Amino acid sequence: MGEWPLWKLRPAALCYVLLVQFAAALTIYVVVVTTDPPTGWELYRFGMLALTGGAVIIGTSLSIQLREGVRRNPWTIHICYLVAGLLLLPPNLLVLLLLGPALHGVLDVREEPHRWMFINAATVLATFAARLVLGWHTPRWTLLALLASCTVLLLLRAVLVSVGLWLRSPQASRSEILGDPIDVLLGVVAVSLGALLAVAVQYDPVSALLAAPPMALLDLAGQLPQWRRSAQRDAKTGLMNAVHWEKFARTELVRARSRKAPVSVLLLDLDHFKRVNDELGHLAGDAALASVALMLRGSVRKGDLVGRFGGEEFVVLLPETDTAAAWEVAHRIRRSTAALSVPARDTAGVTHELDNLTISIGVACTGTLGYELGDLLVAADAALLAAKAGGRNAVSMA
Ligand code: GH3
Ligand code: MG
Ligand code: MG
Repeated sequence: MGEWPLWKLRPAALCYVLLVQFAAALTIYVVVVTTDPPTGWELYRFGMLALTGGAVIIGTSLSIQLREGVRRNPWTIHICYLVAGLLLLPPNLLVLLLLGPALHGVLDVREEPHRWMFINAATVLATFAARLVLGWHTPRWTLLALLASCTVLLLLRAVLVSVGLWLRSPQASRSEILGDPIDVLLGVVAVSLGALLAVAVQYDPVSALLAAPPMALLDLAGQLPQWRRSAQRDAKTGLMNAVHWEKFARTELVRARSRKAPVSVLLLDLDHFKRVNDELGHLAGDAALASVALMLRGSVRKGDLVGRFGGEEFVVLLPETDTAAAWEVAHRIRRSTAALSVPARDTAGVTHELDNLTISIGVACTGTLGYELGDLLVAADAALLAAKAGGRNAVSMA
């Protein structure tokens, strides 16, 4: 998400963030002054829930730090003990339970404290709205009430956070704002685990500890989208890797064949790239590859597939694109590459402007070659070799 300092927010986002935080602070104040002191039995239950949640939060945070990993969404852990707390605890002890998400922020050493405070405020509001639905003084232990309450907990928090993210950067992608579909499934599993935890704790508070391993596992499952993304992306350029690109390209070609729509494939290879490495070093070469990748993504439409084919070779699939349009795109990319100026440091640490990059491009289209990906790639490769043989910085049609 990058940095999110409060003072850099747009006015609408700033007002919204402050409003949510003010509403959360007011809610906590009202809860604390209007709820009776807890009984010993309630404190015992709270203690066991807090111990379990705290142990999982500390354990998972330490394990992430030891593995030098990046935690994406610790929300599932909090859902478990918050749902149990919603069913078992008076509202003032729920306030204390809400220190769990705050503890997470402290342990994970977040770079963006305002984002973290805003998300905690959204969690506070969603939790007490869920409690209102369940029954403020005496929670109702019926399946229907539990479902309604947990739906409010998950949905309200998701909406409050999504609106904040959207106001902050309206151009962000849908998945950045709404999260991954798997978050919904993980949320449902966490709610179920939380309800089971409440049943167990009502019977014997010490049994809360049994929920710690499945909670930790749930947190690990929250990292699945991140692992999936890193398995699909090329680390140096952020583009699709070759395997992932091929999978998408095949699907697109099947779809296009059924609609008899034209598709074009571009195979691109940087010219004399070995010289860049030899003269400036491999890190400068990597910086050039990243710049070319960025330029490629900016040069095509949203639905076009850009991948890193191999070393300094890229591949682009253009749906709904015939020979003439592909020729235009290829030349635009060729010109943009020649116009690139990449700041790169050589092996002595001196910064250079790398501005003599050129690229050769082979183009193949389904109109003449059919819809088999293998045939298109072979033809594009032959055309690329022809562009190289013709003197480079050129486009050649299959
Ligand atoms: P041509 O115009 O014929 O394509 O010449 P070339 O030098 O680009 O071709 P060649 O295939 O001989 O060399 C490709 C070079 O790309 C060799 C390799 O060092 C470099 N390369 C491949 N992958 C990477 C990478 O990830 N980083 C860097 N820095 N260089 C890479
Ligand atoms: Mg090359
Ligand atoms: Mg090459």
